[in-house]
Amino acid sequence: MRFKSLLASSDTPLAPLKGGILKHMLGAALLASIVLTALTTIAAEKNTLRDPQLRRLYHSLRQPIIADSSYVISDTLRLDYPDFTVTLQRGELVPLRDSTRVMTGFFFQGTAQIAFRPRHLIERQQLHRFTGDSITVCEASRLLVRVSTPHALPQEIIATEALHQTKTKSSHEAQELHKAVQEALLERRGYNLAANLMTRRMLGESDTLFVCAFYPERERNLFSPLCLYVYDGLALEQVGYFQYSHKKLGRPFLTVCSYALALERLSQYIQTLRITKYNGWVKVDDNGKMHADLGCDFFTAQYRPPALSFALSSDLRVTRISAEAGDTLAFVQEPKEAGVTVFLPAQAWRSDTLRLFFQYEGEALQRHGNGSLFLKDAINWVPRWGYLVRADYHLIFKCPPRLRVLSTGELLRDWEEGGYRMRYYKTRVPAKAGSFCVGNFVADTLAQAQLPRIEIHSAARRSKRERRHVAEDIANSLYFYERLLSPYPLRSIRVIEAPTTHSQGFPGFVTLSWVGFAPLRGEGPIAALRSHEVAHQWFGNMIGWATYHDQWLSEAFAEYLGALYVEWTAREREAFSQLLAAWRDDILEGGHIGVSLGMQRFGLGKEALRKAEGMKAGPLWLGFRLGQNEALDYYTHVYEKGAYVLHMLRWLLRDLQTESDAKFWNMLADFLQQYRNQEPSTADFQRVAEQHYGEPMDWFFRQWIFQTEVPTYRWSYTIAPEPAAPQVGIPVATGEMEPPASEQVLRLKVQQEDVPKDFKMPIPVTIEYVDGMREAYRVVVTNAGGALELSLRAVGVKHVDFNTGNAVLGRIKNEGRN
Ligand SMILES: [Zn+2]
Repeated sequence: MRFKSLLASSDTPLAPLKGGILKHMLGAALLASIVLTALTTIAAEKNTLRDPQLRRLYHSLRQPIIADSSYVISDTLRLDYPDFTVTLQRGELVPLRDSTRVMTGFFFQGTAQIAFRPRHLIERQQLHRFTGDSITVCEASRLLVRVSTPHALPQEIIATEALHQTKTKSSHEAQELHKAVQEALLERRGYNLAANLMTRRMLGESDTLFVCAFYPERERNLFSPLCLYVYDGLALEQVGYFQYSHKKLGRPFLTVCSYALALERLSQYIQTLRITKYNGWVKVDDNGKMHADLGCDFFTAQYRPPALSFALSSDLRVTRISAEAGDTLAFVQEPKEAGVTVFLPAQAWRSDTLRLFFQYEGEALQRHGNGSLFLKDAINWVPRWGYLVRADYHLIFKCPPRLRVLSTGELLRDWEEGGYRMRYYKTRVPAKAGSFCVGNFVADTLAQAQLPRIEIHSAARRSKRERRHVAEDIANSLYFYERLLSPYPLRSIRVIEAPTTHSQGFPGFVTLSWVGFAPLRGEGPIAALRSHEVAHQWFGNMIGWATYHDQWLSEAFAEYLGALYVEWTAREREAFSQLLAAWRDDILEGGHIGVSLGMQRFGLGKEALRKAEGMKAGPLWLGFRLGQNEALDYYTHVYEKGAYVLHMLRWLLRDLQTESDAKFWNMLADFLQQYRNQEPSTADFQRVAEQHYGEPMDWFFRQWIFQTEVPTYRWSYTIAPEPAAPQVGIPVATGEMEPPASEQVLRLKVQQEDVPKDFKMPIPVTIEYVDGMREAYRVVVTNAGGALELSLRAVGVKHVDFNTGNAVLGRIKNEGRN
């Protein structure tokens, strides 16, 4: 069972964090904080929590009862949580209590020592990235602790009665800090702390929720950031460390660290409870307001919690939730909350199913210049439980009669009723996410034998030729991937021009940025973008990804396949090498070439490049967390470096003699086959890669997924008339059938720099002779260097190609022939 965690609430799995959204939220935050208290009390109490005990409890978790007397701490008191210690020295402790007089936390004022030392190296590096130190050791004069159960506190604190009690003036400070923490979580993360404390309490489980908030005391720091350590026993990643700077600084709410405690890989969700189907109707107005009445069917295996927390876009307000029998259920949803918590009486559950009906509404769609409406949050427009769990979507859409709704799924019915245009869409295969948009599109359909039906919906200003041009790449991509991977699972694919720079590929439903319809410069990168979105039908949809760490299995794969498509169609001979060079330069040189080819299509320009951290942001494994300072870093790693990782794998699997990539394609097809309709992790992919490589590949994945360093190779060679010594490296083409070897011997040497001592890579080297014949070898380069020594054919060498095909990501320094 997994609850909505602090991390998940900020994660937009198919669409990475956008700076613009954060800035927009910042402006609204100030205003919201003023009206927050008044509104929430009414909303929570009047509309939902009718049970007076439940209502009082929730209210007192939102606004704890703060004692007007405090307890003096004269002896040291320690709180120990995983990798985190608070030592209270001198000062006073003000208990916070709920409506049942249970202690729900405390405020401390005095001298406290705080130490946070993440157990994983990557997390210590992240701590350093954001705070300048790889461990936190600081003092705090004020701190606030919130717990779901008093057992989460040391015995001495629960038994505060034993301590010396005194009248306090700190109640106001306690109130202020509590308010700051709660608002920061709600407004910047959509996270409802009170609801989470309450559900943990109701579960009565030992897995607690513990939050410690403090301002580190640092000299010369006028705006000391609010730091939050969170231990959530029910989250997939139990330990979180967050930082939120004063609103005036305009900094985002940062996930500094987030990790699972055990070293074992993050396992998939234990599917004890999951949504299997969304069923109902969605009405959209001209102005982008959406009303929904959705039934959610759950599969449940024995697990029947008394409350469930769902993720739901903060633009959407729930008006009613009911059970199958029609009973209205109590729920809690604060303004700005990106979710809703519903309370479930025992009778709501049936043997192995649960059906809930959600009514909700809000400004969920953005209206664009041409009158089209696109979802602001293409994922959380339906209530979600768990991380992108596959479900069926059976939905009737209603919109004004001059507009049309386009959605995932097959269009089963299209009619007018009661002054609305109605459309019924139904998915054929459960989808990780369903989506839709509304507009007045001009459409063409391409129906060809042996291919699914292709619908292209564009803005009115596009010509038929432009749509045709897009359709050709969609058709060719489908053909390419069907031939090399596996059959496309649906009957049709619907491609819609999106008025933004953002593209997304849902099952059979692609919103393709206008960039993909209106080529800017070279056709190659634009064709790669179109093909990227088609590739998501296989990587992203047919197989998904387990957690945000594994999202490169979708994005990097789509990115690399898009480039391979360009290489295959070879519409521009140089396009593939240009893409490869652009990735390399984005990763290594700050992207001076990439800006024209790669990043521009995400709407990122020179300013983003200037602010990017590059390799300093961290390893590819961190997924969306890389883009927290500058979105570009997310794209550079998860898309481009990830694509380069696949390029390296392709060269490791390549038959150098025949130049065949069959093993690489078989590996991808096998990966799809083994994990079809599942959410594999990076470790799962490693296992499949190893099956095809024939050897363990820990070294490869460690170097390229979990570490940041990129090698520099210095290489040189000599050709001299000496007898040949035994060959080093792995020869795959020896030229045995050729005329006898001359006395000429080639000696090639490689030095490796800028990487850890255990770094190694096999690098392809090709000898090109004057008569056109080529011999290819792999030179394994380690900390000790690498060497190749071989007898040459008599005809003479024309060229020695080190790192053939730019097979390995690195800085290559040719020190010449000497
Ligand atoms: Zn993508």
